Amino acid sequence: MTDIITHSKELRQRLAGETNVAFVPTMGALHEGHLSLVRAAKARGDAVVVSIFVNPLQFGPNEDLDRYPRPLERDIDLLKQEGVDMCYTPTAGAMYPKGFKTGVRVAELGDVLCGVMRPGHFDGVATVVAKLFNQVQPHRAYFGEKDYQQLCIIRRMVGDMDMPIEIIGMPTMREADGLAMSSRNQYLSKEERTTASSLYAVLKETAEKIQQGEPVSEALHKAESALLEKGFTHVDYCALCQAETLEFLDAPEPNCRLLVAAHLGKTRLIDNIFVA
Ligand code: AMP
Repeated sequence: MTDIITHSKELRQRLAGETNVAFVPTMGALHEGHLSLVRAAKARGDAVVVSIFVNPLQFGPNEDLDRYPRPLERDIDLLKQEGVDMCYTPTAGAMYPKGFKTGVRVAELGDVLCGVMRPGHFDGVATVVAKLFNQVQPHRAYFGEKDYQQLCIIRRMVGDMDMPIEIIGMPTMREADGLAMSSRNQYLSKEERTTASSLYAVLKETAEKIQQGEPVSEALHKAESALLEKGFTHVDYCALCQAETLEFLDAPEPNCRLLVAAHLGKTRLIDNIFVA
């Protein structure tokens, strides 16, 4: 039985007495990437709460808040099939009532990479996740490496604020051609969808070149050119970063990662890969 819960008070009542609570925050339009987090949470035998909330705070004024897919019935069916205990779907009005003034900001980590192109985005993410953590009070929370910068920011927030929650990062689930699964992939036209697969191909190739000793700046420059040549309309960044601090690196070192964001028409895609 999956309980569908809209109000935080009801959630708190339902959770009373649960000794092990696992939490998977999402914005819905669920795919196998989301479900991999749900399955990992279920596998430990915890009571599993999945939230579905399209968080207005993390969308910029010219972003896709209005057209973000919201197939709620289908999402709930999927969660029922996975045996999720609770699906929490708060309203924006309840999350941010009139007079809401508080924001959570993780400095530096939230200001680089996607933070440059999407000012305020990670403040919106940190704020909603902090609020959801307070409502659910989970023991463990699952996040995808697909949104690698987000995962780093949540880890930092939880550490900095002494939140007693174990953060579990899960590998990126991909389509057969390598494209990282994303709710936004459905925006892609047929032609764009074909081009999109080269994002991971270029990322993998670039990681290999760096591992083999090609100078980082040269490898990154070539990656950007290759993406534009394949049909991407703009590359926001392609960077080698320290895997926890996200500091830019000009040479590989243990625990580093390659991250990319590029536009395909109106759709912005991100991906990342382990390097060393
Ligand atoms: P979203 O609904 O996009 O906010 O994503 C909710 C959670 O699912 C986040 O922790 C994401 O990182 C994770 N996620 C999204 N796509 C994938 C994927 N392809 N593989 C693994 N996790 C994912």
